[in-house]
This record gives sequence, structure tokens and C-alpha cells, in this order.
Amino acid sequence: MKIIAIGRNYIEHAKELNNPIPKEPMFFMKPETSIIRNNKPFFYPDFSEDVHYEAEIVLKINKLGKNIEERFAYRYFDKIGIGIDFTARDLQQKCKEKGKPWEIAKAFDGAAPISEFVPKSNYNDLNNLHFSLDLNEKMVQNGTTKDLIFNFDVLIAYISKFVTLKIGDLIFTGTPAGVGQVKKNDRLVAKIEGETFMDFYVK
Ligand code: ZN
Repeated sequence: MKIIAIGRNYIEHAKELNNPIPKEPMFFMKPETSIIRNNKPFFYPDFSEDVHYEAEIVLKINKLGKNIEERFAYRYFDKIGIGIDFTARDLQQKCKEKGKPWEIAKAFDGAAPISEFVPKSNYNDLNNLHFSLDLNEKMVQNGTTKDLIFNFDVLIAYISKFVTLKIGDLIFTGTPAGVGQVKKNDRLVAKIEGETFMDFYVK
């Protein structure tokens, strides 16, 4: 399986990092080795001094697809969850300055903790899904998919032009504003519609 993650998909987040508002989706990938499950701790990597959390709604692909049309995209994912796109912002900044790929900042071991996945049919409106992240009991991110620049259907259509989607693949759909640093011993709690999906520590 593979993880595809979307960058700059919420206007307020693009602005907070001084990035332009994109005209088309942009994505990068994380390997399977970046996944952490079952609320296991995230071990702070020794190669960064500025790891940021980014809480994101994650889609789970349930059907093989290539060149998927937007109007049929909903048929290609049946479950959703929440994940953290951990980012070594200091390394990412250096990569950006040199025009290099971002992988070392985004794809390292443990950079993609994910929750359990639940049927998308649990929710009435995927285009207005609320989710949040608490850092040490204080809410630091609070978003709704209503503010997505490119919604789930647009993302699936766009990605599948370039990359065949396979059963079990995950799509991180982008983070709202409020990203920031984590430190050792921080506790992160991620919620969808007020329900806790992840609760884990940085070690
Ligand atoms: Zn992200």
C-alpha cells in the first residue's frame, strides 16, 4: 500500500506557511514504514529540532482505479479516519530553499500515525466534516472539510491521473491552520465530529 498526502489544501494553512494558494492539487507520498497504529507513541527523530503536527482527514481506498472521473470518485473510498502528517519543518525548509524533494521531512519512520477507520456512511456530509487536534489538552487545530480547496472527489480524480489507486491505499487530505511544534512527552488527541480517534504521546 501507499500513502498519498496533499499539501496546501486549506487556504488558512497555506497562508500561515507563506505559501501561495494552489490552482491545482499538489501531492507527495509517504511509505508504509511511516505508519504508526493503535496509539503507539511517536518517537521524536534525532535529525530534526522542529517537528510539526498536521492533523488531516484520511481516506481509505477500497477499489482499484486509474483516471477516475470526479463524479465517480466517491465509489473508490468507503472509510475515513484521521492521521497526523508529521513534518520535520526545519528539513522541509532546507529542501524548499534548494528546490529538493521533501521526502526526508515527510516520509521518515513514524511520520504518519493513523487512527482506526470507520465507514464514511457514518457521516451525513463529508463536505462538512469537523475535526480537531488537542495538544496537551488544548485545542490547536479545528477544521472542517467545508474549507478544503480541493474536495475528496477532486483529489481522487487528480491523483489517479498520475498514480493508480489500489485497495488499502490512504490519502491524507491536507491540514487546516494551527500547525505547530511537538516536543517529547506531548500528548496528542485527534477527533472527528468530537469523537476521539487517536490519543498518543510523543516520546
Ligand atoms: Zn500535511
